[in-house]
Amino acid sequence: MTGEAMLWERAWTQRDPAFDGRFFVCVRTTGVYCRCVCPVRLPFRRNVTFLRSAAAAEAAGFRPCLRCRPESAPFSPAWKGTLATVERAFRLIVEEGALDGEDARVAHLADRLGMTERHMRRLFLRHLGATPMAVARTARVQRAKRLLSGTELGMTEIAMQSGFGSLRRFNAVFAEVYRRPPGAIRRNPPGGIAPGARKPDIGGGRSATDVPLANPVRSGRKQP
Ligand SMILES: [Zn+2]
Repeated sequence: MTGEAMLWERAWTQRDPAFDGRFFVCVRTTGVYCRCVCPVRLPFRRNVTFLRSAAAAEAAGFRPCLRCRPESAPFSPAWKGTLATVERAFRLIVEEGALDGEDARVAHLADRLGMTERHMRRLFLRHLGATPMAVARTARVQRAKRLLSGTELGMTEIAMQSGFGSLRRFNAVFAEVYRRPPGAIRRNPPGGIAPGARKPDIGGGRSATDVPLANPVRSGRKQP
């Protein structure tokens, strides 16, 4: 057995989500092919063949499982289509503040992208593991952190520029996320830089010690 086949076999027995979409499990006794994360009971190993793509499984005469829907597995055309939509929405939220402000509604953003709020929420959970509102909140916090550590702006100004809409909300979110007021973050920057000192700017107004918004889409999934 090749090294790859051994990896696939282990991923299959463990239903390892890290391998979802990387290969498919074809069950000769039923004529069905599955993702390795399929919740159905594992068939006997001797009845199973592993293939690299859904197309290969279908070319070999297998039909997609109705439980795990391999035709929508990661890296499938359907999955890539929804990923592109999520990436677009993500940019609108993070770069344009599409969900900042009192009147911002997920439904409006979803409408702008031609889908229902429910569908958008589901796509965000699938690709990012977080709701659109959670993504927006993280973006506001990270904008604020950059301003706290990279500028001398006052708290109200930072609250407004980061998209919190009010100082009260800015304080409330920082209390929840960091268990301390925003001012404490400025006074005790990670890395022990003296108050008022500017951190080296690494471009785009970000400081070197910022935790970047993890690339939501590719994190945790290394290409082979
Ligand atoms: Zn299945």
